Amino acid sequence: MGMKQKKKRKVPIGRILLSAAILLGGLYGVRAALAGLAPAPGHTMVVRPVGQSKEDTVYALAQSGLGQMTKVSKTRADMTEGSLILVNRDYACQFPAESALKSVYEGKNDTYQVSNTTVRLQQEALDAFNALFADFQRAKGRTDLLLCSGFRTYDHQKQLLDEKVAQTDAVEAAKWVAQPGRSEHHTGYAADLSIYHPNGRTESYTGTGKYAWLNQNCEKYGIIVRYPEDKAAITGISHEPWHFRYVGEPHAYAMTHLGLCMEEYIDLLRSYPYDGQHLGIQYFDGTTYEVYYVAAGRGNTDVPVPQDQPYTLSGNNVDGFVVTVKIA
Ligand SMILES: [Zn+2]
Repeated sequence: MGMKQKKKRKVPIGRILLSAAILLGGLYGVRAALAGLAPAPGHTMVVRPVGQSKEDTVYALAQSGLGQMTKVSKTRADMTEGSLILVNRDYACQFPAESALKSVYEGKNDTYQVSNTTVRLQQEALDAFNALFADFQRAKGRTDLLLCSGFRTYDHQKQLLDEKVAQTDAVEAAKWVAQPGRSEHHTGYAADLSIYHPNGRTESYTGTGKYAWLNQNCEKYGIIVRYPEDKAAITGISHEPWHFRYVGEPHAYAMTHLGLCMEEYIDLLRSYPYDGQHLGIQYFDGTTYEVYYVAAGRGNTDVPVPQDQPYTLSGNNVDGFVVTVKIA
């Protein structure tokens, strides 16, 4: 069986590392052809470590771990939903249904504070932040985190931008506050932190000192520091150590260890189509995930998914879908 050669497109940071990983790992190509929805070839999988650097977490799958496949039909609108949706100055947010948003005040644990009863997040993001903050409290003994911003409406974002423009000017404001409709806060997957003092005063969150633990460990909870200092030119937003984004397991882990911001990672995933080589990610807990991309059609898209294995499916809010399969 001949192996389909993938065309080299533009090479983002990390692609070279991955290519090297694939070569070193033994490039046999995951040829999970959709034809007739036959089982993906290879019911066993070989995962090979590729080196000693921190890129060790991403491996080449020598063989797909996918079993019998089926398909689900997705609309263009579905592409704008899910924990991997990219929202930035180029890609506006399609606002989530009100029913998808949960009150942080009602759903939180007691290891952190929330600024008021109107703060809302998507349920899976809230679950992830609850777990992260509970473990932070166990590790550092602190309960003074304040979740001060979650989901924002269009009007709320407009108000924040207007305030920032009044304080500074339009150019400076644009470095910090996204245009209404293009803020990640519209997704319900993003949260801002500050520090709460018993006297009611709040302090900016810088992610340093005791709090550095959060910025260093959030990758294990499906959460990323969305706007790192060295990626400002790509994200269009200045360094914001207080802004966290839920993207789901194991993507936060992979992004962090590949040194990619979300824009770069979404771009990278496009080079792992269903009918080509898939991305294998060895998660820190020993789990292996198999990840592939399916381009959205002009109408509905049939997305191949495993029949018997647990998976998540997310739109990327740009041009397609990402399927993440838990292999073992
Ligand atoms: Zn924010």
